Amino acid sequence: MNAIQNDRAAWLKASKAVCSNPPLQAPAKAWRLVLLGSPGVGKGTQAELLHQRLGSCHLSTGDVFRAAKSLPGGQRSPAMEEALDYMRRGELVPDQTVLSMVGERLRCLHCFGGFLLDGFPRTVAQAEALEKLMLHEEVALTGVLNYELPLEEIVARISGRRTCSQCKAVYHITSRPPRVPDVCDQCGGKLFLREDDRPESVRVRMAAYEKSTRPLIKFYQERGLLVPIVAGGTPEETFQRTMIALEGVLTD
Ligand code: AMP
Repeated sequence: MNAIQNDRAAWLKASKAVCSNPPLQAPAKAWRLVLLGSPGVGKGTQAELLHQRLGSCHLSTGDVFRAAKSLPGGQRSPAMEEALDYMRRGELVPDQTVLSMVGERLRCLHCFGGFLLDGFPRTVAQAEALEKLMLHEEVALTGVLNYELPLEEIVARISGRRTCSQCKAVYHITSRPPRVPDVCDQCGGKLFLREDDRPESVRVRMAAYEKSTRPLIKFYQERGLLVPIVAGGTPEETFQRTMIALEGVLTD
């Protein structure tokens, strides 16, 4: 299985939906999963571990916006500039902007390794649009993993989180420290505190989650797709719980 760091933003950066890093061999099953959960719950880390184990592509809309931020100003469209302002404040980017980005990459839905959607959908309107797209493309979601964690643990996680400026790998200063402080184990890139992980943005992001994203739990529950997972403990413990829950999905 492909254990190399996946370029999670590639699906929207490139003009064609060509995987930057497809699985070396076709996985036994193409998992098509949505990862739900509040900011800081560890979805990105779990998606990375799932990508390594299952071979499915990790697709993160948040990574796409961060990748756009590092482009020279002239290469960013007015819609992308506007999206980045929302992101800096910790607010959700308008549905229309997110949906037009996703709409450009429909072929990703057919990837033979399946996909892991991390940070999308984030509103009921986005979930309805995804449902329509998937119906049209004749592909179905395997399940929606809902990661759950008490608020105080989430705050501790976000404030200690560090992200690689190059490959986007995620670390934590106490629970998942890099071997060399502030340097990425995988690519040697410099680690940084994301602008939207600063306390003032985190408060706005949590409020946006409560108002706009939490209703997706009911949305997917009603469709029989929701798989609740306790996100406490180490990333590896959460990953073990995820794999057990996915076995349950297979036998349902
Ligand atoms: P994330 O890394 O998923 O926490 O995303 C970081 C930021 O990107 C969010 O706080 C939003 O500003 C923006 N963003 C990412 N995905 C979406 C989405 N599906 N809908 C709206 N805004 C998004």
